[in-house]
Amino acid sequence: MKVVIVGNGVAGANCALAVRQRDSSADITMIGGETDYFFSRTALMYAYMDMMSRRDLEPFERHAWQRQRINCVRGWVTDHDASARTVTVDGAKTYDYDRLVYAVGASANMFGWEGIDDVKKGVVHFISMQDLDECESLTPSTRRAVVVGGGLIGIELVECLRFHGVEVTFLVREPWYWPMAIGEEEADFVTRHMRDHGVDIRLSEEMTKVEHDAEGRVSRVHTSAGDVIDCQMLGVCAGVRPNVARLKEFRDPPPIDRGIVVNEFLQTEDPNIFAIGDCAQIHTDEGDPYIESIWYSAKRHGILTARNLYGERAAYRRPIFFNSSKFFEVEYTTVGDVMLAPEGSQTIYLKHPKRDLSVRIVHHDGAVIGFNMLGSRWDHEILERWVQERRDPEWVLTKLRAAQYDVEFGRAPLRDLVRSDLPLTDQPRSLGAA
Ligand SMILES: Cc1cc2nc3c(=O)[nH]c(=O)nc-3n(C[C@H](O)[C@H](O)[C@H](O)COP(=O)(O)OP(=O)(O)OC[C@H]3O[C@@H](n4cnc5c(N)ncnc54)[C@H](O)[C@@H]3O)c2cc1C
Repeated sequence: MKVVIVGNGVAGANCALAVRQRDSSADITMIGGETDYFFSRTALMYAYMDMMSRRDLEPFERHAWQRQRINCVRGWVTDHDASARTVTVDGAKTYDYDRLVYAVGASANMFGWEGIDDVKKGVVHFISMQDLDECESLTPSTRRAVVVGGGLIGIELVECLRFHGVEVTFLVREPWYWPMAIGEEEADFVTRHMRDHGVDIRLSEEMTKVEHDAEGRVSRVHTSAGDVIDCQMLGVCAGVRPNVARLKEFRDPPPIDRGIVVNEFLQTEDPNIFAIGDCAQIHTDEGDPYIESIWYSAKRHGILTARNLYGERAAYRRPIFFNSSKFFEVEYTTVGDVMLAPEGSQTIYLKHPKRDLSVRIVHHDGAVIGFNMLGSRWDHEILERWVQERRDPEWVLTKLRAAQYDVEFGRAPLRDLVRSDLPLTDQPRSLGAA
C-alpha cells in the first residue's frame, strides 16, 4: 500500500509511525514544507527563549525515520490530481498514492485592520518555524512590540519578547484575558502576574490601525482607546484556522468548508482520502461539526487513521478535553467543559488568599463536568476519570489532593483555599481567541 501524508506535524508524523507499526511493507511518504523533520510546535517558545535548540524540538532522532522506512520529503504540495491519484511537490515531482492523508495544520487568523496590508516588515505570527526565524531576526532591533489576541499563543509570544527585554503592549479585545478558557477570577491574577513581568496589558482594547516607516516596517499601532503606540514589531495572535487556502488552488481540492470535511472515520467523500489534525472539520451524528486545534487530538487522529486507511471503520470520538500550559510561571491545567459549559452550570471556585493558586470545579446536574486549575500541577487523567464517572462535586472536593501532581516541589496548600460558589451564567460566551 502506498500512503502519502501531506504535512509532517504531530498528526502526520503519528499517522506515519502508526501505519508502519501496522504494515511492515507499506510504502510511506510524508511531505512537509516547513521543516525537514517533525518538531514539537508547542515548544516553539523555548527555542525563542534560547532554552532549547531547534534540533531539541524534534521528539525523534532523525535516523528513526530512516529506520522506520518513512520517506521524509521536504517541499510544499502544490497540486493534487485525484483521478491520477498523485500529488505534486513544488510544482515538479509527483508522488502517487493508494491512500492520501491531509495533515496540513492551521494558519493564523488575519483581520482587515486598516493599514496592515501596506506593512512590509515587522508583522509576525507565532506558529511556524519561519515565524520563529522572523521573530528572532527582528528582536535585536525591537525596543517595543505590540501583541494582539488574548489567547495562549499570544501570551507565549509576550513571554518570549519580555525574556529578550522587549517592552510589550498586549492588546486584549475582551474584558479579561482569554474568556474562552478561564474565568474572570483567574484572569485577574494572571493579568496581575503579567503586569509584574512588566507587560503593559490592556483589556477591552483592540488595534484599529497600523502605520509603517519609510522602509515599510511597522512603526505605530492605533487602538480603540484612542492611543497610538510606537513599536517596531507587531505580533498577530488572534486565533488560528485550518490551513486550507492553498489547497483550494489544486486541480482536485478535497471538500473544504471551514476545514477539510471528513466523517467520523476522518475520511473525505473520496474513500481513499483522509484529513486529520487541525485542518479537519469533523462531521458526526453526535452533534455539530467541529474542528479541534489541539495537540493531543491531532495525535489521536493520526493514530486512528492508520487503522482506517486499511479499511477498518474505527470511529473518532471526541475525547474529554484536556490541555495544560503555563501563563509565565503560573501552571495551568484544564479538563472537560469549563467556560463553554452548558447553560445552568455551576462552579465551585477556590482561591488561595495570598498565592496565585486556584481551583475551579464546574458541575451540571449534580455531576462534575470540568476543571480549571491554576498555579499547581495536576494529574489530568484522574480529573478526566472523575468527569467520566460523573462524580458529585462535593465528593471530588474531598478527593482533590489525590490528583495533585507537584510532589517534588511540595504540594500547593489546598487547605488554605477560600471557597465561593458561583453561577457560570455571565460569561462572555461568544468572545475569545484560540
Ligand atoms: C505556539 C503554539 C503553542 C501551542 N501550544 C499548545 C498547547 O499548549 N496545547 C495544545 O494542545 N496545543 C497547542 N498548540 C496547538 C498544536 O500545536 C496544534 O494543535 C498541533 O500542532 C496540530 O498538529 P497538526 O499536525 O494538525 O498540524 P501542524 O502541527 O500545523 O503541522 C502541519 C504541517 O503541515 C505543513 N503543511 C501545510 N501545508 C502543506 C503543504 N501544502 N505541503 C506540505 N506541507 C504542508 C505545515 O507547514 C506544517 O508543518 C500550540 C500551537 C502553537 C503555534
